[in-house]
Amino acid sequence: MHLQKHINQLAPKWTSIRRDLHRHPEAGWTEYRTSAIIADYLQQLGCYEVHVGPTVCKSSARMGVPSLEELALCEQRAITEGANPRWIEKMVGGYTGVVGVLKTNRPGPTIAMRFDIDCIELTESNSSDHRAFQENFASTHPGLMHGCGHDGHTTIGLGVAEILAHYQTELSGEVRLLFQPAEEGCRGAKAVVEAGWLDQVDQLFCAHLFPNDNFQVAGAIHGFLATTKIDATFHGKASHAGATPELGKNALLAAATATVQLNTIPRHSGGASRINVGTLIAESGRNVIADEATMKLETRGETTEINHYMREQAVNILHASAQMYDVTCNWRLAGEGDHGTSSRDLIPLIGEKVDQIKQKVTFIPEMTIRAGSEDAIYMLNKVQEQGGQAVYMGISGPPPAPTAPHQKNYDFHEDLIAIGVELFSRIALSTE
Ligand SMILES: [Zn+2]
Ligand SMILES: [Zn+2]
Repeated sequence: MHLQKHINQLAPKWTSIRRDLHRHPEAGWTEYRTSAIIADYLQQLGCYEVHVGPTVCKSSARMGVPSLEELALCEQRAITEGANPRWIEKMVGGYTGVVGVLKTNRPGPTIAMRFDIDCIELTESNSSDHRAFQENFASTHPGLMHGCGHDGHTTIGLGVAEILAHYQTELSGEVRLLFQPAEEGCRGAKAVVEAGWLDQVDQLFCAHLFPNDNFQVAGAIHGFLATTKIDATFHGKASHAGATPELGKNALLAAATATVQLNTIPRHSGGASRINVGTLIAESGRNVIADEATMKLETRGETTEINHYMREQAVNILHASAQMYDVTCNWRLAGEGDHGTSSRDLIPLIGEKVDQIKQKVTFIPEMTIRAGSEDAIYMLNKVQEQGGQAVYMGISGPPPAPTAPHQKNYDFHEDLIAIGVELFSRIALSTE
């Protein structure tokens, strides 16, 4: 098989796709242009069932969906920027994401590969030493940036689709390519699971790009924290702070009290936990008792149980703080992710495939991180509960400048696209 030669020929095209996606980043549930590009690409390959719209994500399981007004603006923006309106029509209302299914009609396993497609809400660096700025592919959407490398993940998914289409006679069973929306904030994976896309999946492969000194693949990443994201609003009553302060109900004080108290939740003996209030807004005049305050917070836990403990304590504190000031508090789940772990059984297979990648890529079987969260864990858990195997891999290499995910100068070595395509493709072509 001349897989590598084939990949090298296609790599420049994929780099330009990655750079186009990077210039047009879209946040969770607004990935209209991105999804339309994916759907066009899969359809042109001719052998995929292309699923877009409400069948991709179960509506009621979507978390943190923007308002219809915001969605409508993003739908328009996508069309203005050249997205195929035929796809956009089907995605109206935040039904982004694409699933490509390749059925070989030969007996074999069902394997799924997941690629997340959304950006983060961050203004990209315009410093002259930032490559995207130098080489004119920095974000053109104010306040939005592919700062987590999902432009790379999306492109790897397209590359895998193309390679598997070419070598489809060597495949058996079924391959599902899941282009998942709204990973940031852990909002989208659960909806893909509940739409049934992980049902009957025997093996699931997910990956993230990371900066590293050398080109390296980690076969199985463990230790993602369970997490809950909460948006809370305190409602009180405005009043003149000089004339009639006793008639006001102070939402600002309730929210400020809650912020301090949230940080006093007792630690859990079962393992690590986290809490953070990252946004706190109460705006009224200097001499007006604030009648509204909004807050964005998150909890995390080393296990799902510890995170649930943190969430329960946090919600108690929100309500108790509201009660202290005779105001009300409404909160909604803006995102959630479980704790889970990669299947060790798949590590030898991945190691074997990494060895076949001729470019100098080292393999480390396992890696434990205790920092971030990942909503793909819902998918891993679902597949493992069914008796299947599921793994989350790390693909890393030297970035053009020192950086880390979620920083405004984030970038990755573009050879990681070809490496990722080759890794996923070799895995799909070898599973039996
Ligand atoms: Zn990410
Ligand atoms: Zn991220």
